[in-house]
Amino acid sequence: MPDGDITRQGRTLRSARALREAGLIAPAAEAEAARVAERYSISVTPHVAGLMDAADPADPIARQYIPDAAELTTAPHEIEDPTADAPFTPVKGVVHRYPDRALLKPLLACPVYCRFCFRREVVGPDGGLLSEAELDTALAWFERTPAIREAILTGGDPLMLSARRLGAILSRLAAVPHVETLRIHTRVPVAEPSRIDAALVAALRVGKPVFVAVHANHAREFAAPAVAALDRLAEAGVPLLGQSVLLRGVNDSADALTDLFRAMLRARVKPYYLHSLDPAPGTARFAVPEEEGLALMRSLRGRISGIALPAFVKETPGGGGKVPVGPS
Ligand SMILES: *Cc1c(COP(=O)(O)O)cnc(C)c1O
Ligand code: SF4
Repeated sequence: MPDGDITRQGRTLRSARALREAGLIAPAAEAEAARVAERYSISVTPHVAGLMDAADPADPIARQYIPDAAELTTAPHEIEDPTADAPFTPVKGVVHRYPDRALLKPLLACPVYCRFCFRREVVGPDGGLLSEAELDTALAWFERTPAIREAILTGGDPLMLSARRLGAILSRLAAVPHVETLRIHTRVPVAEPSRIDAALVAALRVGKPVFVAVHANHAREFAAPAVAALDRLAEAGVPLLGQSVLLRGVNDSADALTDLFRAMLRARVKPYYLHSLDPAPGTARFAVPEEEGLALMRSLRGRISGIALPAFVKETPGGGGKVPVGPS
């Protein structure tokens, strides 16, 4: 089960008022932030709050998590389910779009709620946890679908589950003969690194490879506690991948991307995907035109190590799946 409001290092900030009391928004901004919070959840862990520079109005960490009135305006091209998961859902909690792999979404809670999230219409603290019966049905789908070679846990954030519950899900999937590899997509190592404790690391040891794809968008997210959490995973033999979203005001420069991908490598994380922003409602302030993203990626080629370069991808509208943007 997800933690309550009290974490090991203090209180997770879950309201406009809590952000104002922590000095992360101005008193004048509280009412507007509260209106945004009625629609899209707020969560800032003490660890992430500690990374923010409240004196910098353009702080790339705060920008990812602090609500903005602009979120209440949906631009004409923005859509509720930009990746079109719904038509590819054979049973609740499963998304099967590619022949050999499928997503399992055991819960929709996250350690933090990112203002640009493509699943923002569904993620949140109270909802989305599959019941025992629903989870059983979802796992049975993997068992009876022999085309599936890879089970990908996402959400929400699977590492918000207790070690016991996560371990039970991974063990059952690993016991399926045709499931060869497992993968977990998570923001926990950089958002709430204290959750990566011995019990959670042990839960990943299920006799088949469990890849962990860490979502991070700025070099400063690789602070010492995050790097230590990633070390604990790496030392347990867990291969680490990085996934990022290209975000205006966060990482939209060659220097910021260089710093981000190098910070990943230092933490033993192989940059895997840089996603073009999906047009979820109220996220226009984060959009970077595709041409600009392509030019940025071109400028990195040769400038940084080849193993530091992720694939630059976008989601095709209507559920066509991920396609490379380039450079080709
Ligand atoms: C992104 C995604 C995957 C994983 O794709 P990879 O290219 O293997 O990382 C699987 N299923 C769905 C529905 C996805 O959106
Ligand atoms: S952690 Fe992932 S799923 Fe959760 S709000 Fe952020 S981007 Fe969305």
